[in-house]
Amino acid sequence: MDAAAELRGSGVSPGAGYGPVHVLVGSIPEPAPDSRYEGEAAAERKRAAAALERVADDLEMRGAKAGGAAQDVLGAQAMMARDPGLEVGVAELIDEGIAAPRAVFEAFGKYRDLLAAAGGYLAERVADLDDIRDRTIALLTGLPMPGVPETAAEPYVLVAKDLAPADTALLNKDLVAAFVTEEGGPTSHTAILARAMGVPAVVGCVGATLLAQGTLVLVDGASGSVRLSPPRAEVDAVLGAAASREAALASVTGPGATADGHAVPLLANIGGPRDLESALAHGAEGVGLFRTEFLFLDRGDAPSEEEQEAAYRAVFEAFPGGRVVVRTLDAGADKPLAFLPPSGEEPNPALGERGLRLFRKYPEMMGSQLGALARAASGTSARPYVMAPMVATVEEATWFVSAAHEAGLADAGIMVEVPSAALRARQLAAVVDFFSIGTNDLTQYAMAADRQVSGVAELQDPWHPAVLDLIALAAEGAAAAGKSCGVCGEAGADPALACVLVGLGVTSLSMGSPALPWVRAALSRHNLEQCRTAAAAARGALSATSARAAARAELPGLSDLGL
Ligand code: PEP
Ligand code: MG
Repeated sequence: MDAAAELRGSGVSPGAGYGPVHVLVGSIPEPAPDSRYEGEAAAERKRAAAALERVADDLEMRGAKAGGAAQDVLGAQAMMARDPGLEVGVAELIDEGIAAPRAVFEAFGKYRDLLAAAGGYLAERVADLDDIRDRTIALLTGLPMPGVPETAAEPYVLVAKDLAPADTALLNKDLVAAFVTEEGGPTSHTAILARAMGVPAVVGCVGATLLAQGTLVLVDGASGSVRLSPPRAEVDAVLGAAASREAALASVTGPGATADGHAVPLLANIGGPRDLESALAHGAEGVGLFRTEFLFLDRGDAPSEEEQEAAYRAVFEAFPGGRVVVRTLDAGADKPLAFLPPSGEEPNPALGERGLRLFRKYPEMMGSQLGALARAASGTSARPYVMAPMVATVEEATWFVSAAHEAGLADAGIMVEVPSAALRARQLAAVVDFFSIGTNDLTQYAMAADRQVSGVAELQDPWHPAVLDLIALAAEGAAAAGKSCGVCGEAGADPALACVLVGLGVTSLSMGSPALPWVRAALSRHNLEQCRTAAAAARGALSATSARAAARAELPGLSDLGL
């Protein structure tokens, strides 16, 4: 490779894109701290309220025009703009004599700090809030609305600090070669929408917004590389390889299976109805993990049973006759809910009251969720499976399974994501209907490496032979009892590791939808014996790196896919 300069970030939506950079100069200058208005406070308050309302209307209008996932995202953003608490905050500042634009800026600042401090999913909503603030200030000050170009002579690479849903919703997909943002993580809206649109994307790319407008860049949405002014030959080679990979992927369709016909159902991980479109487009055979806590985040109280029932029904109806595995609320730790607080201070939230532990504290919440699920499933032909997160003991599993059965849900299982559950898989398999291994948490707990702490990221690798041993124990325990054992953690989305998991005895794989074609293609190029040999080679290694290398050496079909 030549010496063309490169920026790096996290690849969150695979594929290659090339074009001139368009840096989004979205930020509206901060209104002066001492800006005051003249005239009546009531008139200034009215002006601010009207601007917020116009922004909310505009977001809804854009959502209605865009439809699909974008409509949900923009609808949620419009709700933020109409938050009564925010309006009161603005009005109070205006009553102190502060001009409307500055009052908006300051009132939003308080919410912004709260969201940012909450971390995780909530912190990634900060971009949405900033966007509402900037749009409102633009209206109040007569500045042009921030946004993306609606026309262009050739496809461009959209570069921004972070992209708000309003920026991306109406984008013409044919005009955007890739997204690159300085901020945001894999669960930011940029990442979610880029994946839903099939546009390559790199997030967390430091220095991207300093690029000169029009700089030609080559973006690799898998590796996270952004090459600056690369030679034409490199561009042709990378785009050519991406096109042939796409063709190789498109040639493998239908249910997941190894080359010798061993069926491995390939399912989607979803956070709500908005992810269904992508799941269906990528050929999911059902849902292997519905993270229901996403219906509960971003709000002050739990959704009503009716609201829950409607969301669950939409998912069941999308897969007639198919399998839909719903996980009961996994709140706590990195997904705290204000209305379900733990008993006290938690110095180590990942080891505290989360998942099923929190449900035992709030049994009425579990009762209403199980009830809503049972009602939603009746009248649809989908087969509902329900499972509990963070199960550590046989006693917890028994308690959950009997509650689910009593609610009329016949298939009740558990996630295996605590090492104690994998170690006692035989005993647990006797009391549950199925297992689903959560490799994200299983790795975190097996390696004692917090998922939220980037300093221990190297230990957060499911290829560690210790993690593979625990997975093997879980799969063996399930098989001995004649129960199924899927994987729904990120490990299933790695095509090489997916083959190893099948070799370890895992019976289905569930993942973020864009990974489905890659895993389907990788499985179709290897037979079950090769998967078993790769699994044994990986377990025989001494480290995650050597396990990966040892397995790959047994999986020759990966190189056809450029993996
Ligand atoms: C897991 O832990 O692997 C899992 C699928 O659950 P979550 O990532 O939602 O904790
Ligand atoms: Mg988990």
